[in-house]
Amino acid sequence: MTPSTDPLTLPHLLARQQAAFRSSPPPTAGQRRSYLRCLEKLLQANQGQIVAAVQADFGQRSRMETLLGEILTVLAACRYSRRSLEHWMRPQRRPVGMVFQPALNWVEYQPLGVVGVIAPWNYPVLLTLGPLVDILAAGNHCLIKPSELTPHTNELLDKLLGEIFPPDHVGVVPGGVEVARAFCALPFDHLLFTGSTARGREVMHCAATNLVPVTLELGGKSPVILAEDFSVAQAARSVGAGKFFNAGQSCVSPDYALVPTDRAPEFTQDVLRTAERMFPSWEGNPDYTAIISSTHYTRLQELVAEAEQAGAQVLQHRQPKSTSGRQFPPTVVLNPPTTCRLMQEEVFGPVLPVVGTSSVAQALAFVGARPRPLALYLYTHSQATRRQVLQGTTSGGVALNSTMVQVSQVALPFGGVGPSGMGAYHGRAGFERFSHPRAIHQSGPVKGFEILQPPHGRLSRWALRWLTGFSPVSSHHLGSSGAESGRQNTPRGSGE
Ligand code: NAD
Repeated sequence: MTPSTDPLTLPHLLARQQAAFRSSPPPTAGQRRSYLRCLEKLLQANQGQIVAAVQADFGQRSRMETLLGEILTVLAACRYSRRSLEHWMRPQRRPVGMVFQPALNWVEYQPLGVVGVIAPWNYPVLLTLGPLVDILAAGNHCLIKPSELTPHTNELLDKLLGEIFPPDHVGVVPGGVEVARAFCALPFDHLLFTGSTARGREVMHCAATNLVPVTLELGGKSPVILAEDFSVAQAARSVGAGKFFNAGQSCVSPDYALVPTDRAPEFTQDVLRTAERMFPSWEGNPDYTAIISSTHYTRLQELVAEAEQAGAQVLQHRQPKSTSGRQFPPTVVLNPPTTCRLMQEEVFGPVLPVVGTSSVAQALAFVGARPRPLALYLYTHSQATRRQVLQGTTSGGVALNSTMVQVSQVALPFGGVGPSGMGAYHGRAGFERFSHPRAIHQSGPVKGFEILQPPHGRLSRWALRWLTGFSPVSSHHLGSSGAESGRQNTPRGSGE
């Protein structure tokens, strides 16, 4: 039985964190570094347990994928933030307008308070602890609502985090939809949601009641565009490596490929060959991850069957005699009609639709006619094509001649655009996302604003003319004294 939080206790848990946040000054750079070091130690010391917990949740999860895609990625984020946060925390000087001189302007980054995190199941460590790195680096407290589909990982993270952070600093609140809805209704200082676009809409709606600012990390269909000049075999190897990582259950997984029509059959074969090389026998292969639940598995079967019935050519890795478990055969689908579910919904599985296109311009039109994706992948050596595609599309991020790796770049912001999300985090972007950039102005001994006070007369008019380049229209607009009315509208330089 999955442990679940009583939704009625959530306001109390939040109030306790808010009280703890308010009762002490913002943590120093040294304190924040020590929190991050604790997280690093947690990951290093418990690698085996974490791999086992994720394995138990998936039924079968590649050990290397958990180590590389979850543990190593969070460790890299911890190290980067730990080394950089003193620099990020430094107040930033900003210029002062001439009229306000002499004075100082600067921005100080303040922690927001308590940040709520709602996570999906596909990377249950990365998408809970990854945000936590940025949230702690920015000096906040945090409550995490992980996915109900990963109970083993949730239980372990709750225990391990509980050993290093008091519950009024970092807490885990497992539960399903009921808990998620109650969680969204809490007056957090910020809410980070990672999940589907449909749920993201509900989250934003719910958070609006308390004017809680949200960051939405959503999904969508991330396209691959293959240009004429690039090797089909190389592109297929690269796309296959991204597509079959975590069995396609990645938000930035290459969702479908747009390939020059005459090369599409060759590309389709090559992607399948890549899968066969990576997983000579996919069923029972410990390097090949399973689909998270039988519901998700059945959905993938339905998507492929519908495309096949609609006339698409389906190529699947050799089937074993009997299949058990939830590993889904690596599948490539050539030319599915755009009306079928495979081309309408985010695939989120090891199935790659391949669509023939006549030119890069046609590929751009195809992408442009659809919701803005989280990622876009382009294979070309041509500078001109690169420019054409970068200028002709909008997406959360881009990888050129590769897939998925843009997410692991600690110094790049990560986030979607439009239906694939709003707001970005990771590294400096995450520090700023979970901080309040407080604007501070310190006046000098001469205060122009105080000199230009009513009753407005000659000095005000002169100052206005000097600053704006035009004369006041009438004394009424300036609110000047009656004695001066009727003497306005004098053109600049008239010698008044
Ligand atoms: P999901 O939207 O079904 O669930 C995500 C989380 O939301 C879970 O914790 C769930 O309990 C919670 N939830 C469910 N109903 C809710 C509600 N009404 N209000 C608030 N929270 C609710 O997503 P999923 O199936 O767990 O994950 C797959 C989706 O997540 C895919 O679309 C994928 O692209 C996306 N994703 C995005 C990113 C990213 O960083 N952009 C990363 C991973 C996954």
